[in-house]
Amino acid sequence: MTPTTTSNTQAFDTDVAIVGGGPVGTLLAILLGRQGKRVTLIERWSEAYGRPRAVTYDHEIARILATLDIDSENDPAINYHDELYYWKDTKGENLQIVDWQSTSASGWRVRYWFNQPDLEERLTRIADTYPTVEQLRGWNGVALAQDADGVTLTLQRNPREAGANGETRTLRARFVVGADGANSFVRESLGIENEDKGYFFDWLILDMIPKGPYEMKPAQWQLCDPKRPTTIVPAGPGRRRWEYMVMPGESGEELQKPESAWELLKPWGLTPQNAELERSAVYRFQARWAKVWHQGRCAIAGDAAHLMPPFAGEGMCAGVRDAFALGWRLNAILEGKMGIDVLESYTTERLEHAKHYINFSQELGKIICIADEQQAAERDVRMKAELAARNNEPVPTDICQLGQGAWCGDSAHAGELSVQGVVEAHGRRDRFDQAVGRGWVMIGLDVDPAAALTDAQREQLALLNGMTVKVGAPGTACDAVDVEGTYAKWLATIDAKYVLLRPDFYVAVTANSPEILQQRFDRVMSRLHLQNAAAEAVA
Ligand SMILES: Cc1cc2nc3c(=O)[nH]c(=O)nc-3n(C[C@H](O)[C@H](O)[C@H](O)COP(=O)(O)OP(=O)(O)OC[C@H]3O[C@@H](n4cnc5c(N)ncnc54)[C@H](O)[C@@H]3O)c2cc1C
Repeated sequence: MTPTTTSNTQAFDTDVAIVGGGPVGTLLAILLGRQGKRVTLIERWSEAYGRPRAVTYDHEIARILATLDIDSENDPAINYHDELYYWKDTKGENLQIVDWQSTSASGWRVRYWFNQPDLEERLTRIADTYPTVEQLRGWNGVALAQDADGVTLTLQRNPREAGANGETRTLRARFVVGADGANSFVRESLGIENEDKGYFFDWLILDMIPKGPYEMKPAQWQLCDPKRPTTIVPAGPGRRRWEYMVMPGESGEELQKPESAWELLKPWGLTPQNAELERSAVYRFQARWAKVWHQGRCAIAGDAAHLMPPFAGEGMCAGVRDAFALGWRLNAILEGKMGIDVLESYTTERLEHAKHYINFSQELGKIICIADEQQAAERDVRMKAELAARNNEPVPTDICQLGQGAWCGDSAHAGELSVQGVVEAHGRRDRFDQAVGRGWVMIGLDVDPAAALTDAQREQLALLNGMTVKVGAPGTACDAVDVEGTYAKWLATIDAKYVLLRPDFYVAVTANSPEILQQRFDRVMSRLHLQNAAAEAVA
């Protein structure tokens, strides 16, 4: 889509200024840039940060990355381990088994492994391919002031970089997004408070590059040793990660020295001769969230909005979801299709969803971080009994619903990530997102979904560039062939004939008759604050 100019465009340097060029800010820049929006991505460091942090993401993130043509299943920089995830006691007996092996209902494996700097560099390169995305590196966001029409952002050359001369500049944007990490200046400038769970644990993170083949069995596991709780996981092709709890009374500074790190690695057969210690650093794991995530024409996303201990591997995942959720809303607002009030549902939906993972990660941490021998022994007995009671069945993938927002609460599966199956469409056999496309998608199983909507509703769907797709069994007349019967099974389970998907793959509505569909469709549309005029300058 090509941006078009209207009378007040000249007053703005950019449509969206994003402060923070980490994974979340850069992804958002791509999502807006690929729809032709003018984006300025401001990052305080000229060079990439380059420090490994996240090593794993879940199936939903794989689904999102696939929209950027990053195929987690076949990409040389990403891998998976066809194995379960184990928690073990010091005797090597299982305390917990988690299903990190299956393919999830959303069509991708439950877990993938990667190196965060590689992904960041990749996102930066993709962002560079969009002519309307400008990346300003070496600049700090230092002040912002918003009014009814836009936001004025003050930037200063990062004083911590060579050659900085105190130079400042201002930028006028229609919207500002703070994806500027845990100490977010945007969040602070907006006066948004954090809800802090008062949770702090220090952990030593060791990122290792074995010099030859290195096999760990199991590939992904947790050693619940009260003397030293330890996480042992992959970290993408050619890498492994060890995480060690800093024990009460220990000095994190001492522990992160290379000599201490190598001492800790000895039992695992790693030495300076056979492996490179890429990085040794102590991180403080915290649990907190910002109380609101938008204010007027400003929003926050990623670590600026939430922090969680990495026990569930969900921190960056939550930020990626934020970027996706903001992306479709900001695109539609800038196209004059939705009113700014649609940002209300960004806060309400995403905040509850992130809280779920923060609480979940904290609960995992409470079990993992037990340093008292007696408490650990009690935990082990209890967990083994629970595992035996379920015949050692692995815990399935967690399903989490959005907080209330732009979806219809009384339809089954709404507010949850949609199921995705393999279909045949447009001469291609692939996952639905790749074979058919995405956006606002109205699916009808064995029925034409367009026929179930009123004229006005079809117009609304067209305004949103939505599409209708009749899914059917092989050999029937339809737009997409349900080659593995995934849609037939899913819709039978929730007693539905129709499903409305949102651009972030969440289910907006399900219904089993045109009448119910029409009522529920109207309810969701009213929450999108649809507008008819191109009020925001990009047609
Ligand atoms: C040890 C560890 C392990 C982790 N493991 C996982 C995992 O396995 N899976 C997972 O999903 N998550 C994991 N995480 C979390 C994940 O790394 C973060 O959630 C993710 O990096 C957040 O991305 P972000 O873009 O929101 O913020 P950041 O990555 O912090 O990026 C923010 C950017 O903003 C820039 N910036 C800040 N202030 C300004 C300013 N005023 N002006 C301009 N630029 C500014 C910074 O330089 C930075 O580049 C882990 C974290 C840690 C510490």
